[in-house]
Amino acid sequence: MSTRVAFQTLGCRVNQADTIALEDEVRSRDGQLVHHKDVADIYVVNTCTVTHGADADARKMVRRAKRLNPDAQVVVTGCYAQVAPEALMALPEVDLVVGNEGKQTLIDKLMPRTAPAPEAEAEVGAQQRGLRLSPRRMDRLWPSRVRKGKAHITALPETRTRPFIKVQDGCDYSCAFCIIPQARGISRSFSLEYVQRQLSNYAALGAREVVLTGIHLGHWGKDLTPRVAFDEMLSRLLEGLDPRIARLRLGSVEPNEVTPRLIALLRDHPTLCPHLHVPLQSADNEVLRRMRRLYTVEQYEQVILSLRQALPTGAIGADVMVGHPGETDQHFERGLRVIDGLPWTYLHVFPFSPRRGTASSTMDDQVHPSVKTERMRALIRRSDVRRHLHYRSQVGLERQWLVLESKQQGYKVLSDNYVPGVVYCPADKLHPGDLFNAKVSVATSSGAEVQLGSSEVSGYE
Ligand code: SF4
Repeated sequence: MSTRVAFQTLGCRVNQADTIALEDEVRSRDGQLVHHKDVADIYVVNTCTVTHGADADARKMVRRAKRLNPDAQVVVTGCYAQVAPEALMALPEVDLVVGNEGKQTLIDKLMPRTAPAPEAEAEVGAQQRGLRLSPRRMDRLWPSRVRKGKAHITALPETRTRPFIKVQDGCDYSCAFCIIPQARGISRSFSLEYVQRQLSNYAALGAREVVLTGIHLGHWGKDLTPRVAFDEMLSRLLEGLDPRIARLRLGSVEPNEVTPRLIALLRDHPTLCPHLHVPLQSADNEVLRRMRRLYTVEQYEQVILSLRQALPTGAIGADVMVGHPGETDQHFERGLRVIDGLPWTYLHVFPFSPRRGTASSTMDDQVHPSVKTERMRALIRRSDVRRHLHYRSQVGLERQWLVLESKQQGYKVLSDNYVPGVVYCPADKLHPGDLFNAKVSVATSSGAEVQLGSSEVSGYE
């Protein structure tokens, strides 16, 4: 019987892209991927460590895995494993801890190959000729910086119609609250050629929309020689894009990296989805300074207003952290007024969580958890209202929809401007990966109902 392997992934899209690659490694060794609630021989928990909550979730998953099969091997990888390996190894349920730096060879350890591996190719910019490597940068790279990546992914998981593709990893910034640079190392870019080949490969496997992700997406290209700006990398990528990829969606881009050229690309390029996530973190300049963010509230406002002008019906998301040390009621109230005045469509709200080793964790004026909860509630209420208004504003408009999966009496779909929807139509009329244009008939609390009508459906061939 082949080895049964179950994955569970926490955190960002980059981590999810990492899991796609790990799952593919398992498949290439004839392993069987099973659901994490099923009995498996190996459970892999790919963790995040952005908050205490993420750490706690990982520990819960580990315990549940061992309960499901006490004989299984329970493996923890990802950012939590990178920054706190001893804490995880101390858990009786954990058999193996492998940080991000060891992810590349994780499946080799668990399931050694019996036949030679297909030829691998250089994966990240760090291995490529021309990378700018000062001695200081060298020190901050992972010990395993010279590593081989898979030539290409050979199968896509259930998210096959819109997989995430990692074009960059790590971060060179040092935001006071953030543990990510410690968990992921400095910024390393995948080469344009590598990303283009991966995209073609994804297209061949059935992907219609691909989400470009990175820990610091706006730094994609910056570690290469000559240095290439993110908007230039994107422009070159779009020029040579495999025509089978119908939609390209960007992940999160820092406000100081949203350039007029990037906004123009989002406005004008038919393949780029009218959607951008721009982290705000705080809408107060004093708090932003303490966080060591590299922009002011006024600059952020300018970016969001320009984006809205370019994308009148597009989706604009923002991360907001509440309760950073030193965030007073006055800061928060002042920030709320700014946030209310900005034309975003949804917020991702999360509480400050002190991470050992970060500057913010030892700052004075830590905010009481009950205050954080109150502030979270105030922002989540606003986000819910705005999200619904975004859905309602689409009623009667024609959008492009991607079929994600079938559900009872219909299909789950997603619009180019990030409205989740359902379309009710006869079975077999649509298939995952189909694209079609249709009007929104009704807005609901969870998205939109879409009228299929007689519009053209472009299927995947
Ligand atoms: S930009 Fe700041 S918040 Fe984002 S990963 Fe880098 S250090 Fe963390």
